[in-house]
Amino acid sequence: MPSPTDALNCSDVRSAETLLFVFGDCLARDTPGLRSLDKERDAVMLAEVMDEAGPGASSKQRTAFFLSAMRHFALDLIERGYRVRYAKLDARGNTGSFTGELERAVASLKPKRVIVSPPGEHRVAKMVDAWRDVLDVESVEIDEEEHFFTPLEEFDEWADGRKQLILEYFYRDRRKKSGVLMDGKDPIGGEWNFDKENRETFKRAPRVPKRYAPRADDVTDEVLALVRGIDDLPGRLDSFPWGVTPEQARRALDAFIEDCLPSFGTYQDAMWTNEPFLFHSVLSPYFNTRILDPRVAIEKAIDAYESGHAPINSVEGFVRQLIGWREFIRGVYWHEGRDYPERNGLDQHGKLPEFYWSGETEMSCLSHSVNEVLDNGFGHHIQRLMVTGNFALIAGVHPGQVNDWYRAMYADAIDWVTAPNTVGMAMHADHGVVGTKPYAASGKYISRMSNYCEQCCFNVKDRTGEDACPFNTFYWDFLIRNRERFRGNNRMAMILKNVDRMKDDDRAQITLRGRALRDELGIGGISR
Ligand code: SF4
Repeated sequence: MPSPTDALNCSDVRSAETLLFVFGDCLARDTPGLRSLDKERDAVMLAEVMDEAGPGASSKQRTAFFLSAMRHFALDLIERGYRVRYAKLDARGNTGSFTGELERAVASLKPKRVIVSPPGEHRVAKMVDAWRDVLDVESVEIDEEEHFFTPLEEFDEWADGRKQLILEYFYRDRRKKSGVLMDGKDPIGGEWNFDKENRETFKRAPRVPKRYAPRADDVTDEVLALVRGIDDLPGRLDSFPWGVTPEQARRALDAFIEDCLPSFGTYQDAMWTNEPFLFHSVLSPYFNTRILDPRVAIEKAIDAYESGHAPINSVEGFVRQLIGWREFIRGVYWHEGRDYPERNGLDQHGKLPEFYWSGETEMSCLSHSVNEVLDNGFGHHIQRLMVTGNFALIAGVHPGQVNDWYRAMYADAIDWVTAPNTVGMAMHADHGVVGTKPYAASGKYISRMSNYCEQCCFNVKDRTGEDACPFNTFYWDFLIRNRERFRGNNRMAMILKNVDRMKDDDRAQITLRGRALRDELGIGGISR
């Protein structure tokens, strides 16, 4: 039977002077590496490998998204006249690793020179370093980076010598340098950020615009069938909400700007049952695989502001995600070095509860947030930080296990994104590099920002007892456990006073209930 991706079978690529190895998160159509190739003599290679797309490394949604985007990218290259060597995941002889596939390609094509896309992970960067010694080629070079606004050297210069890396200062610096949303020396709208206006909640079920959802073509259908056949990949694939080409990503961007951006800022931190996307852009998988250029998104958002279509609080919030937070965490990831993803600043060693993989929990907020990730490979930022992340933090889970879950489950996940967001931001495990205080919160916060608690069997007002909201028990238990650790943190002073004022008996009750809950959920002991 002919397959829609038959063109990817590489039998006609038998030699290459230069071989460009493109990773699945580097699918920009135009890169310095691609521009440098001679289409007659050189070749591009892409490899689907189990080490990156199989159980333990990825989820059904994430693997399907990456593989389909890679296959579309490779077919487009062939149409544009490039010679492509493509290793499908289920191809006979696929070694299952980047190194194995590259070694096979070098042995067969005999290139003099290998160019590799910029790695998005310390682990992969280390692998690329090793290729310089093991491959029988004259050179292994890394392609020039054009996707990000801030070169890593520039971030290092900004960061070196600072006592603390504060996003707000970095962001203002970027705004001034780029001139984005600037009126001369002043920020447009008179403020650098409008977060104060961006904390509205929904009083009733919100009317959320229908999302642009491209129909799966034959290539995607082929990938979905392949992924459904892989045993033990977490998550579900009953539907597939993702575009996989630059055109589809542009349409998703246009739909966001048109339908969602006007309300995006105001409801940025709100949550609602069965509304996994609300007014969020849901464009991060496209940015992070580089099939969508953030510059285009910023331009369109600013146009929307200038034409009066979207207010400044929304546009500034969206722009901050792109030139502020995204660039900041990438800079932090590489600046802090290889040990960053392994940090465990709060010395927590609990096990990630099983419901993160199954979605089976009676806690309504977690049930909705986790099941949406299992269904779509996506959760919006406040679910990530204040529900799934917050719970893992206050329950005492090991940050490495949390990072592994985020990196596997989300369609936009690559280590440079997940490690600072989870190890740093959510788990406060990086010794305070990205956050001056932990984002720990009780059920009260979730109750204020969502309708989850209305449908929950736990009582959001209680902190001990069988029916008490586990977020409350764990929140106070977390503060009791870490009381001395946070003593010197001014931002924690107020809340620690409440812990100090508690009766000894109340503290003991919370500690006991916390321990029992951890046992019930399979988290176990927190200490090593
Ligand atoms: Fe979540 Fe607690 Fe609210 Fe239940 S009561 S939804 S567990 S915050």
